[in-house]
Amino acid sequence: DVTQLRVGLGDRSYDIVIGPGLLAQAGARIAALRPGARVGIVTDRNVAERHLSTVEESLRAAGLVPTPVIVEPGEKSKSFAVLEQVLDGLLAARIERRDLVLALGGGVVGDLAGFAAAALRRGVDFVQVPTSLLAQVDSSVGGKTGINSRHGKNLIGAFHQPILVLADTGVLDTLPLREFRSGYAEVAKYGLIDNAPFFTWLERKWQDVFGGGPARIEAIATSCASKAAVVSRDEKETGDRALLNLGHTFGHALEAGAGFSQRLLHGEAVAIGMAQAFRFSAAQGLCAATDAERVAAHLKAVGLPTRIADIPGELPDTDGLMDLIAQDKKVSRGALTFILARGIGQSFIARDVDPAAVRSFLEAER
Ligand code: NAD
Ligand code: ZN
Repeated sequence: DVTQLRVGLGDRSYDIVIGPGLLAQAGARIAALRPGARVGIVTDRNVAERHLSTVEESLRAAGLVPTPVIVEPGEKSKSFAVLEQVLDGLLAARIERRDLVLALGGGVVGDLAGFAAAALRRGVDFVQVPTSLLAQVDSSVGGKTGINSRHGKNLIGAFHQPILVLADTGVLDTLPLREFRSGYAEVAKYGLIDNAPFFTWLERKWQDVFGGGPARIEAIATSCASKAAVVSRDEKETGDRALLNLGHTFGHALEAGAGFSQRLLHGEAVAIGMAQAFRFSAAQGLCAATDAERVAAHLKAVGLPTRIADIPGELPDTDGLMDLIAQDKKVSRGALTFILARGIGQSFIARDVDPAAVRSFLEAER
């Protein structure tokens, strides 16, 4: 019950392995690529408490030399200060050019460790061992790494592809439900972008996906396959990789408006953003209103928010949200780029969206 996929990037191609029990196989699978290597394991405290010893034992048993570098959980760790701590820890562990960095955690750890690996000695190879649903279906694949700045999220970083991704679906059993649900928004996203049958399958099977077992593994594998295909076609986002931003232009503005806090997790913001992208598409006459309703109904069924009113606490007013949308890095020279849809599974890149139309849509949404 292990699925293997490949991201095709010429001599930098790599495998994504998905299934239960992979933490215990990490040593053997990594030793096959880098026998005898030192491995700097970057992880956060939550994940370390539950899963670090399994990985360390597996690495040692395969003749590798692990050293853990443990950071605090949460988005705040994607900072210059924590990056410096991680690099210091890796240097103290004497990780050299032929050694490895291993990211064991959610998207925060993956982005931070990946960037540390890109910078350490001008580039050390790294392995992604994603432990959140979001990291397994999205952030661990594709090579985008980085940290945040006071000027915004993910503004400092590098493209640095992993040499292997090991997604152990069993570790999701310890992930809090709210985090699982947040990651599920990105799973649904792949159906909405270009895979209507997958979305229909999710509408029928989502309870099994949440419950664990074969449906969960299948949903993760289908999502990873979509991401891997897009990344193989368009590594640096000069073309259709931008489709992965469905729901993210509205979503990022809401996340920023909520101060990137626990009030609104990333996937929750994306869920609202996707529902909005479909409602906006329907309002523009691009897609049927029934499709927009179906999208919102499914997200709501799994317990995700679909409207600004679902976010607890205060948010910026419509002009404030418009400013945040304009700051999003997908904006170039005044015109807004959005991912819109002609229907479920029929998303497209709309490069010249009229800001006035977006503003009146947002005003009507509240
Ligand atoms: P996260 O890394 O903060 O993990 C969420 C929480 O779950 C944390 O508290 C973590 O400690 C905990 N956790 C993780 N795995 C666990 C497990 N198995 N058991 C118990 N607890 C566990 O957040 P995330 O949602 O995984 O990732 C969000 C980050 O990913 C953001 O910084 C975002 O910018 C980034 N991201 C990057 C990309 C990319 O392409 N590089 C894509 C999407 C998102
Ligand atoms: Zn996302």
